Amino acid sequence: MTVANSLIASSSAAAKVNLLGLSRQQMESFFTDQGEKRFRAEQVMKWIHHQGVIDFAAMSNLGKGLREKLESLATVTPPEIADQQDSADGTRKWAIRVAGGALVEAVLIPEAGRATLCVSSQVGCSLDCKFCSTGKQGFQRDLTAAEIIGQVWLAINSYDGWQSGKGRIVTNVVMMGMGEPLLNFDNVVSAMSLMTDDLAYGLSKRKVTLSTSGVVPALDRLAEFSDVSLAVSLHAPNDEIRNQIVPINRRYPIRQLLQSAKNYIDAQTDRKRVVTIEYTLLAGVNDQPEHARELSALLKDFPCKINLIPFNHFPNSGFDRPSGNAVSRFWQVLVDAGFIVTVRSTRGDDIDAACGQLVGEVVDRTRRSERYRQLNSASNAVTEGDRT
Ligand code: SAH
Ligand code: SF4
Repeated sequence: MTVANSLIASSSAAAKVNLLGLSRQQMESFFTDQGEKRFRAEQVMKWIHHQGVIDFAAMSNLGKGLREKLESLATVTPPEIADQQDSADGTRKWAIRVAGGALVEAVLIPEAGRATLCVSSQVGCSLDCKFCSTGKQGFQRDLTAAEIIGQVWLAINSYDGWQSGKGRIVTNVVMMGMGEPLLNFDNVVSAMSLMTDDLAYGLSKRKVTLSTSGVVPALDRLAEFSDVSLAVSLHAPNDEIRNQIVPINRRYPIRQLLQSAKNYIDAQTDRKRVVTIEYTLLAGVNDQPEHARELSALLKDFPCKINLIPFNHFPNSGFDRPSGNAVSRFWQVLVDAGFIVTVRSTRGDDIDAACGQLVGEVVDRTRRSERYRQLNSASNAVTEGDRT
């Protein structure tokens, strides 16, 4: 092939649409724009998301002409798995290589009767929360919708095939991996629409959770586009502490954030819904009984349940995980005040799969085992609960 020919070939390959990330509406427009029937969208979506088929030639209910046309116009390209690790507790973590070579992580956490997939929305994050290793990494880029839903596709596909109900390998999805989902609004909304669409993963809106550290203007818009469950990363009972550890609080303080979250759930038809308040416990910073009392007062009339996350350590973080007693005391104050409170159990310690440890690189195993020892020596507090 001449250089000119190879350039033409690569530029036409780049121009192909990746059908993996198209929502139902976008897929229908894709087919009708090509002069094809709308129902082709349904057929192709089922092949991709229900059967795991990404090769047009294998889509046997499409005519040969259409398959060739698709071949020339489109691809179905999931991101590539760079590394897969299994924890002794059944947690599985993938390092996923996205276009341009960056790595992001997804984690599947199996529990009795369900399995929750924690999905990334960006490479890095610009919000710089002080206790988060993704934040320390800075922001590189948004993931595309195909790269976000591709994590679900890869997770399911990594377990021997799709037949006999294997699609249910993932029962819940939480947007709690790397990145701030509301700063990648359109792609996250498209990907979440596929998570809940029967033609794709068919999860109920209760089983898909978006977690945000508080991008209020985007949260104000979210109800127009989505009705998934909401988790808010609060981490502090007052603005003074939150300003220090979650810098976006200086732009959108707690009152504004809680009001926006309340508006979001008030817009849902299902009146029983509540916001999950995430609260990472940092020793000596926000973990004292007086903080718990202040938090109870703050959330007194707010429809929520509270998920406490004992800090997950990473090198040079500058923070410590509270003792088991400190976690229990904090928990007790909230329970006594009438809240539903869970403490997120740390899963996948031995593979650095816990919240805030997703760093987007293939971590070297020596350091991992050293950290495993550290984490094991840290106390294991009240252990119930999990990711939302
Ligand atoms: N950007 C979103 C979602 C990703 S972070 C958000 O901030 O909500 C998912 C959750 O893990 C957030 O509640 C986050 O504050 C928490 N987290 C981050 N680093 C952590 C750490 N080192 N230990 C415990 N929780 C952490
Ligand atoms: Fe970004 Fe969330 Fe980490 Fe904050 S906690 S830096 S918003 S990923």
